[in-house]
Amino acid sequence: MEPLSRNPASPIPVTVIPGDGVGPEVVRSARRIIDAAGVAISWEECPAGAEVFRRGDPSGVPAETRSSVERTRVVLKGPLETPVGFGEKSANVTLRKLFETYANVRPARELPGVPTRYAGEGIDFIVVRENLEDLYAGIEHMETPDVAQTLKLITRTGTRKIVRYAFELARQEGRRKVTCATKANIMKLSDGLFKRVFEEIAPQYPEIESEHLIIDNVAHQMVKNPAQFDVIVTANLYGDIISDLASGLVGGLGFASSGNYGDDVAIFEAVHGSAPKYAGRDVINPTALILSSVLMLRHLGLAEAADRVENAVLVTLEEGRHATRDLLSQAGGDVSTATSTTAYTDAIIANLGRVPATVPPRVTARREQGAGATPVAVAVGPVAAGAAGGPTGGPAKDAAGAVVRTLVGVDIFIETALTAEELGRDVAPLAGDSFFLEMVDSRGTKLYPSTGLRAESVGWYRCRFVAQGSRVTDAEIRSLLGNIATRHNWTHVEKLQLFDGQPGFTKAQGQ
Ligand code: NAP
Repeated sequence: MEPLSRNPASPIPVTVIPGDGVGPEVVRSARRIIDAAGVAISWEECPAGAEVFRRGDPSGVPAETRSSVERTRVVLKGPLETPVGFGEKSANVTLRKLFETYANVRPARELPGVPTRYAGEGIDFIVVRENLEDLYAGIEHMETPDVAQTLKLITRTGTRKIVRYAFELARQEGRRKVTCATKANIMKLSDGLFKRVFEEIAPQYPEIESEHLIIDNVAHQMVKNPAQFDVIVTANLYGDIISDLASGLVGGLGFASSGNYGDDVAIFEAVHGSAPKYAGRDVINPTALILSSVLMLRHLGLAEAADRVENAVLVTLEEGRHATRDLLSQAGGDVSTATSTTAYTDAIIANLGRVPATVPPRVTARREQGAGATPVAVAVGPVAAGAAGGPTGGPAKDAAGAVVRTLVGVDIFIETALTAEELGRDVAPLAGDSFFLEMVDSRGTKLYPSTGLRAESVGWYRCRFVAQGSRVTDAEIRSLLGNIATRHNWTHVEKLQLFDGQPGFTKAQGQ
């Protein structure tokens, strides 16, 4: 999204959410530094997270917070607690979804004075994570008491936006390569679509090298040779995991910053969570949230203030006199001598106006300077909203109504205590004149007609009925379901369609 336009004379309104656990401490630290850097911000402090859930609001994000964000369009946010494995939806994810912040940008850059196994290798890459779709769409069902299902959603629209965002960011920063990370070898339709859209868009950025790697290899390569990466674009869950891995390469979660960018709203937060065991103890490392606030200042068009704050952080780390507990424990030091969150913040404030001696000072890249025009390090700035629109390798044929669809069958998922063999024999005669039972599988492995493959029963099977002729109708599917329902509990139905003659469904293992 474009930097916000504003009146330079008046304070900039920003919604600030202190959050849970260590949130209020790291947010206080970042606010103190921004205020000390002379940036005039009018902070609108708003609640979200655990306290809001306790009040009985199941969204975790109350109306007052929503309307503040609609007004300010910029949020600095502490981590929010989410119950694990039960209870309400994550308020973090709710915030990202409410305001359609589709791009989650997580830089991983070697920092001076932060000892890691990779010190000196020059790690400097950005993970661009799709932020709204994939398994994070959170569409889940219990199919039986013992079988849970989550829908993995990858759309052409969502993928175009994130891929264009990644290339625009790479172009703006003068970066040389964008790596697309998927598991398209296994999920040929969902991740396959992500990869295909990436390959359609990449040629529009001829000055930027593009490559595709399987996500597990990306994890391997990130540990083996992380300096090879520049910009990585990936789906939501993969991005979540590899960006935590990336933060481990450059010093840990205490240093990992992030920005969530949409067409209208941007939310800046640390990658880490509420770290409850450290809450209220004045020991937490606030660098991640401070560097997230640097991303926020750049987004607000305050590049000089952003550089000033970032350089003060680099000077403080480089001097090594103020090490927080996590830094000391990584370096094998005596954690009882750790600098408190407050004292570390004081040290950064005292270093405002200084530039680091051992690494290039940060200077925000500006479009007009062009790639490589500046001899000093560049830093993530706002990306033009071009990410949302423009050509993307031709319109989707289906959106234009040009794709020929043919309904050729149906998958019916059935809960039963029968074996696959018994179920197959039982439902085959129910197919009627329109269908025949092609197969029964369990968890994607074909078991009937027998292929010799064996699989433990989980009490839930897929029965694939295909057209006797060249196609079937909705009415014939409804009639088949009616027949099945007389004898079995079906839980889930998927149509089998051809798109321009190509199957819009995958085969089972062994089929
Ligand atoms: P976490 O809060 O990130 O903490 C995991 C560990 O990371 C901590 O125990 C600590 O490691 C280290 N750590 C995290 N932040 C640090 C910092 N600023 N400085 C130094 N070390 C830091 O993850 P979690 O324990 O899995 O999650 C706790 C809660 O946070 C959960 O409710 C979760 O849902 C939520 N969460 C929220 C967000 C968000 O708001 N965006 C993100 C992730 C998790 P050591 O134990 O080794 O010291």
